[in-house]
Amino acid sequence: MSYVNEVLARLQKKFPHQPEFLQAVTEVFESLEPLFKKEKKYQKYNILSRIVIPERQVNFRVTWINDKGEIQVNQGYRIQYNSAIGPYKGGLRFHPSVSEGTIKFLGFEQIFKNSLTGLAMGGGKGGSDFDPKGKTETEIMHFCQAFMTELSRHIGARTDVPAGDIGVGGREIGYLFGQYKKLQNSFDGVLTGKALGWGGSLVRPEATGYGNVYFAEEMLKEKKESLEGKICLVSGSGNVAIYTVEKLQQLGAKPVTVSDSRGYIYDSEGIDLVLLKDIKEVRRESLVEYAKERKNAKYTPVSEYPNDHNPLWNTPCFAAFPSATQNEINLKDAENLLKNGCKCVSEGANMPSSLDAAHKFLNAKICYGPAKAANAGGVATSGLEMSQNAAMISWTFEEVDKKLHGIMKHIYAISKETAKEFGEADNLVLGSNIAGFRKVADAMIEQGI
Ligand code: NDP
Repeated sequence: MSYVNEVLARLQKKFPHQPEFLQAVTEVFESLEPLFKKEKKYQKYNILSRIVIPERQVNFRVTWINDKGEIQVNQGYRIQYNSAIGPYKGGLRFHPSVSEGTIKFLGFEQIFKNSLTGLAMGGGKGGSDFDPKGKTETEIMHFCQAFMTELSRHIGARTDVPAGDIGVGGREIGYLFGQYKKLQNSFDGVLTGKALGWGGSLVRPEATGYGNVYFAEEMLKEKKESLEGKICLVSGSGNVAIYTVEKLQQLGAKPVTVSDSRGYIYDSEGIDLVLLKDIKEVRRESLVEYAKERKNAKYTPVSEYPNDHNPLWNTPCFAAFPSATQNEINLKDAENLLKNGCKCVSEGANMPSSLDAAHKFLNAKICYGPAKAANAGGVATSGLEMSQNAAMISWTFEEVDKKLHGIMKHIYAISKETAKEFGEADNLVLGSNIAGFRKVADAMIEQGI
């Protein structure tokens, strides 16, 4: 058995109850086989066995009181996965589906994604099984304060800098920051995604979505194609999805779908972004409202989805931007996309394609931008927020956007170059995994056991 398969088999035996974590590790390990054949030092230093185990993992109790005066308990998590190339960095997810395995898969991915940005950021991730849906403003604030009361002892501007993810946006970052400052009596850049008036960076809200579209443009340029005038599918309707739609529209493309946990919208005229932002960012309502207010739009609730596939991905398109959650594209969805003429899949969400769906895209040789490369614009701009905080300056929108664009081009270029180096020019999964891994692994070797 090869070294890679040996480590993988050990993990499968040890963590059978963490399927998402095993999926993320399998994807990275499959890509690393050719590197390990070429470079013996990684096996000599047993890097794989070391890199899969988080440096530190904290599970904590979050106790808070709801508006009715009832005591509520949630599970909190922070994983400090790898600090070889910089302070731990990665978002916080508040969603009822969050488990130790979810945070571990996200943290593991984050190590390589952060490495690809070229910035000095290690990998981390955190969150809670808290469900923000249906909670009042005060309940959200009380939960965030209770969560930070515990988390605060583990993080710091030079140690570990969390940000947002599913269920954690500007509002939550505000409450978390307020509580950290109260506890520490120190105004530190300890979180990113802050509001502009108190240390936030321009373009941070837009960064993941914009960055993903910049990445898709790079992939398409190579094939002498562009997004202009093209029909695109977007899933999700949160931070990543909204700014993906915005950038696509700026480039003259026509995004026709968005979704949330309850259903999806198909709008043949193209998504009305003003209405979408109002429903999701201001009113915080379901997409049912979108169809009520825009007559040509069709809403399909999840209850009407077939068992084996998501009908959103069965819509003819040129490009698809999954931007909701993990494993939202299965093999059948991938087949439907290809059958309907899709030429490009660029992942805004983390691990949105199952392993067999990803293989399908690779075999079809379409432009396939894996999440850790395509959605790295968010964390990259968080890195830029940290730089601005450290220097106590603020860059203009144009300056940050230009840097973000440059970083996405760089991520594409090193992923492509690395894929070519290993004889698989079209395989950006392999290219991004090897490029991200090599930098971290070399740093670990240089820093000793
Ligand atoms: P948001 O909470 O802003 O939005 C998430 C969207 O996805 C919502 O529309 C939500 O629906 C939908 N959604 C969440 N879970 C499910 C589910 N299980 N089934 C169907 N729909 C679901 O999160 P973000 O936009 O920030 O994150 C989206 C994805 O992008 C995640 O995978 C995240 O890890 C990834 N990502 C985010 C980054 C960022 O900067 N924010 C950076 C890099 C990656 P509803 O409104 O009904 O809850």
